[in-house]
Amino acid sequence: MSTIPAADTVTVALLGNPNTGKSTLFSALVGVAQRIGNYPGVTVEYCLGRMVAGGRSLTVIDLPGTYSLAPRSPDEVVSVDVLMGRRPGVPVPDVIACIVDATNLERNLYLVSQALELNRPLVLVLNKIDLAMQAGWEIDVGRLSERLGVAVVTTEAHRKVGLDDLRRALLVAATARLPAAANPFPPAFRDEVAALKAAWDARTGGAAPRYLVERALLDASCPLPDAPEWGGSRHAWDEIQAARQRLAAAGCEIPGVETDSRYAWVDELVRDVVRQPVAETFTITDRIDAVVTHPVAGLLVFAVLMLVVFQSIFTWAQPIQAAIEAGVTAVGGGVTRIIPAGVLQSLLADGVVAGVGAVVTFVPQIAMLFLFIAILEDCGYMARAAYLMDGLMARIGLSGKSFIPLLSSFACAVPGIMATRVIDNRRDRLLTILVAPLMSCSARLPVYTLMISAFIPSEAYLGGWLGLQSVTIVSLYLLGIVAAILVARLLRKTLLRGTPPPFIMELPEYRCPSWRIVLRRVVEQSWSFIHGAGTLILAVTVIIWAAAYFPRAEHLEQSVRAEYAGELAALEQAWTELRRLPADLSGEVSRREQELAAREAELERTIANHVAGAAMEQSVLGRLGKLIAPLVRPLGWDWKIGCAVIASFPAREVVIGAMGVIYNLGAGEDEASTSLKAELAQQTWPESDRPVFTIPVALSIMVFFALCAQCAATLVIIYKETGSRWWPVFTFAYMTCLAYLGGLVTYQAGTSC
Ligand code: GDP
Repeated sequence: MSTIPAADTVTVALLGNPNTGKSTLFSALVGVAQRIGNYPGVTVEYCLGRMVAGGRSLTVIDLPGTYSLAPRSPDEVVSVDVLMGRRPGVPVPDVIACIVDATNLERNLYLVSQALELNRPLVLVLNKIDLAMQAGWEIDVGRLSERLGVAVVTTEAHRKVGLDDLRRALLVAATARLPAAANPFPPAFRDEVAALKAAWDARTGGAAPRYLVERALLDASCPLPDAPEWGGSRHAWDEIQAARQRLAAAGCEIPGVETDSRYAWVDELVRDVVRQPVAETFTITDRIDAVVTHPVAGLLVFAVLMLVVFQSIFTWAQPIQAAIEAGVTAVGGGVTRIIPAGVLQSLLADGVVAGVGAVVTFVPQIAMLFLFIAILEDCGYMARAAYLMDGLMARIGLSGKSFIPLLSSFACAVPGIMATRVIDNRRDRLLTILVAPLMSCSARLPVYTLMISAFIPSEAYLGGWLGLQSVTIVSLYLLGIVAAILVARLLRKTLLRGTPPPFIMELPEYRCPSWRIVLRRVVEQSWSFIHGAGTLILAVTVIIWAAAYFPRAEHLEQSVRAEYAGELAALEQAWTELRRLPADLSGEVSRREQELAAREAELERTIANHVAGAAMEQSVLGRLGKLIAPLVRPLGWDWKIGCAVIASFPAREVVIGAMGVIYNLGAGEDEASTSLKAELAQQTWPESDRPVFTIPVALSIMVFFALCAQCAATLVIIYKETGSRWWPVFTFAYMTCLAYLGGLVTYQAGTSC
């Protein structure tokens, strides 16, 4: 939270259940691009934005989507903290905009009843009013406002309708007198709260907010009792226990009294202000759900959809990728021509251009993948996929709520791990965090793509419908999933014992995806890959280039040339003989000249490659690669692959840049060999001339990358989310062991078949 608003700005906090359109409204109000999708639980962090209304500047805080202000999960703690002005560095909200889904009023009003108790200025936003009207709901907005004592505004956030009314209402509410705080609880409960508050206020000399006193009484494991309001005293805890016992004796059970009281309040309110439509018994959504959530048909639809997605990434993205590759090669060639040979030329051509190329080349695939994810999310299918997976998740010991973070981890484990904040149970959350990096993220895609397109034959079966390359990539995704299942089961039986709580998730109505939203997501995600991963890739590529370039041994070329002295002398001799041939044999002379020129070029290329290879061997990276060579030999890897893997510790995708540097050295003489794939295919074992990269080796590299934890950002986020250094170390250690074993088994099995 870097921006502190000016003193005269009005601060607005957006609060609401997931899927009410809160992110859409936030973007519509402040114009800052937000991640949008009808997928509950996506917004896990609050964000700041700014807008101007009535000549005043307004700061808008987007809170995590939450069903309740209990506060039990980390998201709820953040929301309560911000709303009560207790979050350091975050401005205290002057007004709360409580967003509800007008088609789901009854359930959403539960949160409203809690928000009203905070005793802060509040505006109720009935979003998705278009859908409510279409469905035949009649909401008496005036009466609702009267009953609640706050302004009520209707909006259609996706079409920016009602925003001016909302801005006006927010400004008015920020300065208007506070209405009396609502209180849906029975008298016995209210009396206990009043007595507790009086005792605590007297003891601390402060004024504990009533809402927090209620929470302390209601939530047995409330994370707030450390709050300064009750002075952290042992007394307070004893008083809470005594009050609970008195309430239980009076037939007012804790915590059941909260849901009973609030839903009774909601029922009465709704009866008064809402006329429900005559229920349509079987909607289109129900009809679609009958198929896609069916235990057999649904899984089949899910499997087919996933296969189509991955098949398309390879076929549709290919032409754009080829064009980008050609462009990068041309730029590299240009740099080599313009800048004289030496450190600078090598840095630019082999470090910078190769690094940028490695990032840009894979953008088409990543954009394609995100296009499908965005479409599936926006049409409402993703939530069904989560629902479908719930039974399966429970069987492997994961909570149903783990599916969203794990699914997001297919794009990137960093937001996936952050999304685990929606999981209340600490053990379930930790378990999800620990297996999330096993999901095949987009950073693995470049590694898979490179290896598959270079070494897996493009054979097709079933009349061309099922390609071997697509099957390989689907298998790698499945490998990550299977590994996650096994690790989750093991951890559930050992380090993290316990049973997951029941799964609750909202299934939104199906709708036609909005192309504007889908395209924005694609652009945002692709850009974040280029911008986030790209800068890191580039930086590491240059570091790796330096590690591969230095220390530069002197007279390396002379000593290599000395090794080829025989061939060079023979060539020289042949040229001399050619020059001695009589002039009347001009046809024969020109034929032999061409022959000799080709032999000379070939020899020079061999020498250059040899020089480059020798330079690399003496470099820092080469020495490190050689150090671990015996360790990676059983995986079928040579020391260069070992080097590339060491180089990619900061981020998996860096392996492409690293390979670009490692294998491009000495490859500049032949246009065709400048491509990384061709270069890899040319690599041979020095002792036998056998190719290094065979199908088992390519598979072993891919399996290693499918399972390893080569991503500094993920490890940092695990540290931040768990608050412990132990968990990132544990994750890195177990994933590296798993990756090594996976690579070993793959290669050994592949070579013995
Ligand atoms: P959040 O989880 O509360 O942040 O919800 P989102 O902003 O992601 O919105 C959920 C879905 O509802 C998205 O597909 C939005 O396009 C859609 N949406 C948001 N506001 C409206 C609205 O007023 N009317 C309709 N029909 N759809 C809306």
